[in-house]
Amino acid sequence: MTPRLAVAMFKHETNTFSPVPTRWEDFGALEGEAAHRAYRHSGYAMAGLLEGAEAMGAAVTIPLAARALPSAPVARDAFERLSEILCAATRECDAMLLDLHGAMVAEHHEDGEGELLARLRHVRPGLPIGAALDSHGNVTDCFVENCTVMPGYRTYPHTDMVETGRMAARLLRDVLEMRLEPVTVRHAVPMLPDMVRGQTDREPMSRLIAAAAAEEAAGLPCVTVFTGFPLADTADTSLCVLATAHRDRAAAEAAARRVGDLAWSMREEFTQKLEPLDEAVARAAAMAEGPVILSDQSDNCHSGGAMDDVTVIAAALEAGMTGILAGPVRDPAAVARCCEAGIGTEVTLEVGAWAETPFPRAPLRVTGTVQTLRMGRFTVEGPVFTGMPVDLGRCAVVRNERLTLLLSEGRVEALDPLQYRLFGLEPSRFQAIVLKSKTNHRPAFASLARAEVACHAPGVAGLDLHALPWRRVRRPIFPLDRSNA
Ligand SMILES: [Zn+2]
Repeated sequence: MTPRLAVAMFKHETNTFSPVPTRWEDFGALEGEAAHRAYRHSGYAMAGLLEGAEAMGAAVTIPLAARALPSAPVARDAFERLSEILCAATRECDAMLLDLHGAMVAEHHEDGEGELLARLRHVRPGLPIGAALDSHGNVTDCFVENCTVMPGYRTYPHTDMVETGRMAARLLRDVLEMRLEPVTVRHAVPMLPDMVRGQTDREPMSRLIAAAAAEEAAGLPCVTVFTGFPLADTADTSLCVLATAHRDRAAAEAAARRVGDLAWSMREEFTQKLEPLDEAVARAAAMAEGPVILSDQSDNCHSGGAMDDVTVIAAALEAGMTGILAGPVRDPAAVARCCEAGIGTEVTLEVGAWAETPFPRAPLRVTGTVQTLRMGRFTVEGPVFTGMPVDLGRCAVVRNERLTLLLSEGRVEALDPLQYRLFGLEPSRFQAIVLKSKTNHRPAFASLARAEVACHAPGVAGLDLHALPWRRVRRPIFPLDRSNA
């Protein structure tokens, strides 16, 4: 009999410190044919899930495809509405494939995905569920108990999202065809790895990824290292290893423990000493040949930043830099001012620092000419998040003799130089490019620049975990409690 498979996406990486709200309308929820059109050939795990489901010869439905950029906990009504759609879908299917993040927090449920999966299993006890996850997931015991198979990405920046979707579909197929009786063990390690140190193409993370791969090569169907998302203040925020074995719990436990112990032994390597902002900018300013990328590490939207911070731009100006291309900085009021003024008009704006965060900040006063006004719509060409539609809303380029500043109404991670070229700005012609991203820009931007300097300003998306107001995370945890963790 043809199996009925519901394939769905409900994705959010929640930064519990973020000032950016997460409402129903931020999820851009699609279903059916529209969802298929948007995601079947995208760079998301959803594409791999759909491909795998179709290859099984299943009768596929898409009850929901919803994702929002990282931001504050999901609003209660949005979480309830989206969960209800999936709960209803369980009644019409024999199994489910889900594209989830793993670090979703709702206003009323700290463990968003665990709660969602428990509800699905409450409606349909024992329903086979395969989930493709982001390796920044803070995966909980509740999640593992209520899911059948759950591979996570093996790369960061994430270039294997589709492949992870295929893997989830393949594992679920093996379950449905009774070749696999999965037993998954979660081994949590009380550490919060630095996100940048978690890049998988280099040490120390490459070694940890290799250790997990070795466990799979030795016969386990799935072993994933979840470095976790450290900008979420929840009880279960930490690195964890999930190991899945065929029937054999002891084998899964041993593998998860081996990889987890290796992570713990490497914990110091998963920290980094952050260069003070003034020193970093001075280093960039001293570079004779450009462009140099100043990557603002503390306000990128893929970590939950509001993208309204101007500290790094101000520091670059202060250091005497010229030929600066900066942005997008999200400031709807400043964009509106530029639209009112019109192209060719000189404006003086107070830009940025309008969202409420735990950090004292100041806007930047900019005087310049409005050079361009247009809608910021484009599709990411990759290689990270390929096919992702971007809507920056109305955008304005304001220019003076030292700074070319792109202002927007919406948020986008620096994934693609198109974010500048769309406005007639060629980033390779500038001396300095100030963009908001930790690592995601590297695949597309590295070849444009001669050098990169990581810039750390205080911010809710930053790497200085000691600066954040922690209340919920289970203590002790490394490196917050360095001496006794
Ligand atoms: Zn991630």
